Amino acid sequence: MKRSQQNTFTSTCCYCGVGCGVVINKEKNGNITLEGDKDYPVNKGMLCSKGLNLHHTANDKSDRLLYPQMRYNKNMPMQRVSWNEALERTAAVFKTFINKYGPDSVAFYASGQCLTEEYYVVNKLIKGFIGSNNIDTNSRLCMSSAVAAYKIALGEDTVPLCYEDIELADCFYVTGANPAWCHPILWRRVEAHKAANPDVKIIVVDPRATDTCSIADLHLQINPGTDITLNHAIGRVLIENGDIDADFVTNHADGFEQYSKIVFERTVAEAALICGVAESEIRLAALYIGEAKGFISMWTMGLNQSAVGVNKNLSLINLNLITGHIGKPGSGPLSLTGQPNAMGGREVGGLANLLPAHRNLNNPAHRAEVQKFWGGTEIAEKPGLTATEMFEALNDGRLKAIWIMCTNPLTSLPNVRMAEEALKKAKFVVVQEISNKPETLAYADVILPAAAWAEKEGTMTNSERRISYLNKILDPPGEALPDSEIICRFAQKMGYKGFDFKDASEIYAEHARLTAKTNIDISGLSYEIIKQQRSVQWPYKKRSPAPATQRLFTDKKFYTESGKARIGAVPDTLTSEMPDDDFPFILTTGRIRDQWHTMSKTGKVNKLNQHIRQSFMEINPFDAEKLGIKEGHVTIITSRRGEIRVKAKLSPEIKKGVVFVPMHWGKILNSDMHRVNNITNDKVDPISKEPDFKYCAVSVVKF
Ligand code: SF4
Repeated sequence: MKRSQQNTFTSTCCYCGVGCGVVINKEKNGNITLEGDKDYPVNKGMLCSKGLNLHHTANDKSDRLLYPQMRYNKNMPMQRVSWNEALERTAAVFKTFINKYGPDSVAFYASGQCLTEEYYVVNKLIKGFIGSNNIDTNSRLCMSSAVAAYKIALGEDTVPLCYEDIELADCFYVTGANPAWCHPILWRRVEAHKAANPDVKIIVVDPRATDTCSIADLHLQINPGTDITLNHAIGRVLIENGDIDADFVTNHADGFEQYSKIVFERTVAEAALICGVAESEIRLAALYIGEAKGFISMWTMGLNQSAVGVNKNLSLINLNLITGHIGKPGSGPLSLTGQPNAMGGREVGGLANLLPAHRNLNNPAHRAEVQKFWGGTEIAEKPGLTATEMFEALNDGRLKAIWIMCTNPLTSLPNVRMAEEALKKAKFVVVQEISNKPETLAYADVILPAAAWAEKEGTMTNSERRISYLNKILDPPGEALPDSEIICRFAQKMGYKGFDFKDASEIYAEHARLTAKTNIDISGLSYEIIKQQRSVQWPYKKRSPAPATQRLFTDKKFYTESGKARIGAVPDTLTSEMPDDDFPFILTTGRIRDQWHTMSKTGKVNKLNQHIRQSFMEINPFDAEKLGIKEGHVTIITSRRGEIRVKAKLSPEIKKGVVFVPMHWGKILNSDMHRVNNITNDKVDPISKEPDFKYCAVSVVKF
């Protein structure tokens, strides 16, 4: 395929944070086909099942929202209106609430799938002009524990390494993740590296024996929630064996002494008992790490989505720090981002507790700097409501209006029936969406049709800090508009200045200027450079020598006040909802290979639905037999919040006492019996406010 042809474009897959490059061909009939971009450094031509079928999702317009709709009260039917009518009324309602109840009476709930430019304008709107910090995104459900841990340990929310380090590492510690299914193309690189170098060691930590374990040298099948105990025990053995980097822990890190004390509070045998693995396995894991010249820790939701998610993350990053495996080739902590642009969202400050370019909301100088730059209202000091807090605030009446943008909370939030009640009580709900499927639409007062992937231009940042450019290839159907244009038009209706951007490149340029002199400085990275190079890693300062920064902390200077990394002496207490006689099983949730989030895109593709057609509960045959449950039996899974009914899938690969249900299914034909978030709990990590999706107490019976 020749790029010079006018109908051929490049872009980036809009699913996971791996960020694979695609080459898209626009056919005469207006449809697109695509293939992996062989020249793209991330995937070198490979695509996983989801990426390979992305064109089907883009070509199928059957479920698309085509024009704005509105109703004047909750009892009236929706009716088609013009953009002008929809935005004028929304602005009038928002102004009324803000005048009567204050700026914190409204909120925006956005998504890690928004493009950076979209995030930028909505964040600017609410923080810089409305005067509230009530913006959060579904990234809160995904990466916020890793973000908090990076900030504590390294002084900055940043992934220190690059994907090229995979081919330079000789030990991988993969924990709380199933990259073979959820980050497949990155995992293909690990597999290829292992195949070419059989001495490379792969350790997988997971209560389930997933596909990722198929190339593992060691699978530590721990009891759910015991990650910190395990990581501490490995730390202890590394210290006992003398496999730590004495220079690093003495001269480039703080906290080693306290850390040593805490990891020596338990014997390795005690830790093994708590974790449900053999002591010899813990010692072997430590031996593999201790012998490695390049060591990468890799994780995702199993660590992040926890009531102690930040501590889990810190206990893992500690293993890189005590061994000095950071800031050098083939080494470092690599958090795998669930969504395509969770990182880009944080770069523009798109969370309730952030300001642009990772500035801190609680720093008066940072607030003043951003306010001066934007020229709007005073930026409030009080952090905004986080994802779950927004729905609690709607429920108790503190929040009057919510604008939901590019996300489907009535499938994805924990304890989702509470969120449903909250939306029923909301005084005003705006839903900005591409599809007519999400359950939120039933509660909307205003529906705004948005342009989808390939119908708008913009940038995203993947898990290795790589900013990529996404081309506009198709016209949006009907009257749908790019999300950034919708927000800017609304801001102008509110009477705010500073939203008359000509196009996405102007928004990006403003964002890039605002990063100058910060740790994530991209002030030297113009749209032209990104377009020309297809993707560039940050930071990229003015007058930076090319190429951009691949690897951070090579000088062992960290972004903390002392300039040293922080080794965290975190306790290994678990604060999750514990099983008891009434709810004796631990429920954990997660993804399956061929579906994405709440299935509003991948669920449209027959080929992808063929992999697994309906939700299920994975249970160990030992437990199933005790309950009289056989393969395919319908089961009732109950928690203190509600129940679901799904078929049993017997698998010796899940730990006894644990059941797994996928996260993807929401309401089907008005039944919510497949929606696992009916039963998940609303505990969150006290620092990151990330929900505890991976641990709640349930009972299981045959239907
Ligand atoms: Fe898309 Fe992720 Fe698959 Fe790459 S690995 S094709 S980014 S879903």
